[in-house]
Amino acid sequence: MSACIPLRAALLAHGGYRSTQVPAAVRLNTNESPFPPPPGWQEELAATIEKIDFHRYPDRDVTELREGIAALHAVTREEVFCANGSNEVLQCLLLAFGGPGRTALVFEPTYALHSHIAELTGTGVHRGARDAAMRIDPATAGELLGSLAPEIVFACSPNNPTGRSEDPLVVRHLTDRAPGLVVVDEAYGQFSRFTALDLRDGSPGAEGLVVVRTFSKTWAMAGARLGYLVAAKEVVEGCRRAALPYHVSVQTQAAGLLALGHATEMEDRVRAVAEARESLAAGLGSLDVETWPSDANFCLFRPRRAPGHAVWEALVARGVLVRDFSALAGLEGSLRVTVGTPEENGRFLDVLAAVLDDLSEEACE
Ligand SMILES: *Cc1c(COP(=O)(O)O)cnc(C)c1O
Repeated sequence: MSACIPLRAALLAHGGYRSTQVPAAVRLNTNESPFPPPPGWQEELAATIEKIDFHRYPDRDVTELREGIAALHAVTREEVFCANGSNEVLQCLLLAFGGPGRTALVFEPTYALHSHIAELTGTGVHRGARDAAMRIDPATAGELLGSLAPEIVFACSPNNPTGRSEDPLVVRHLTDRAPGLVVVDEAYGQFSRFTALDLRDGSPGAEGLVVVRTFSKTWAMAGARLGYLVAAKEVVEGCRRAALPYHVSVQTQAAGLLALGHATEMEDRVRAVAEARESLAAGLGSLDVETWPSDANFCLFRPRRAPGHAVWEALVARGVLVRDFSALAGLEGSLRVTVGTPEENGRFLDVLAAVLDDLSEEACE
């Protein structure tokens, strides 16, 4: 075999997921929880792992964990599918319901992995645009649904990286008109007052509604790799067929199940992060940057008088890592900062103020 065999076209088209991982004292670039999981959870997990029969395969149907998650949302186990992070949930969905000859509709700017994973699975991607306020315009969406008849439509609530929750009426508009699945990615759902789960009301359109969640952000378990969806049992069955057997490891299943016993602590943290977000947003509001309202654990901002990428570099040089979206269509010049601990947020605001001062002076020279 030649080592020079070309990659599949879908992989040649883009370089894969990119988010700079560089060492930094203050890491506010990937929307992780600033707090580690509760100490009780970690102790319980250690004790459970000691007793695991590692020579045996895990429960292929992830029964107990799906039951626990189902109870959390007052649905049945048959309506829950689990995988290694919500990205794998999305991959299974696209393998099952997308693929060559089928279309996924996204509204950009949004979470890049929706279109990226769609392309990896050979699904055609149509990139619709959000309006100036970064919302999905129902009229535009309706036209695209009519002309494209996409098998899958993606929404993201709150939307990453812009921060706002989707409008419930717009999601309803999508489910009423979409011929296939409407996937609402709620990676930051617990930070928001709106959840698309409330739209699963048995009405005809609601059958195609898929709500995707993750333990990575609000549950402070990004390292554990666990995500899930809540949807009609036919959707769950489709994903099960697309997933590899035994894909959710015995440790991951245990980690998730034990986490469900700490839901109250998770909710406390969500509240603490939401409060910290308000002071971070207020801090940004006092600087020379444009900002967008956020219902999540991050804020998008655009320096008014300094180039976004230069600001990003200067922040890194001073030990503060945020996410650089400055070269992205629709987000030109913008950066996204994750809500950290109050100390990290304070440090970020101080360093940003200094950087903006330096760079806007340079711009005037
Ligand atoms: C972080 C994030 C995910 C999470 O992916 P995991 O694979 O669960 O870690 C999914 N969707 C969005 C919109 C995100 O921001």
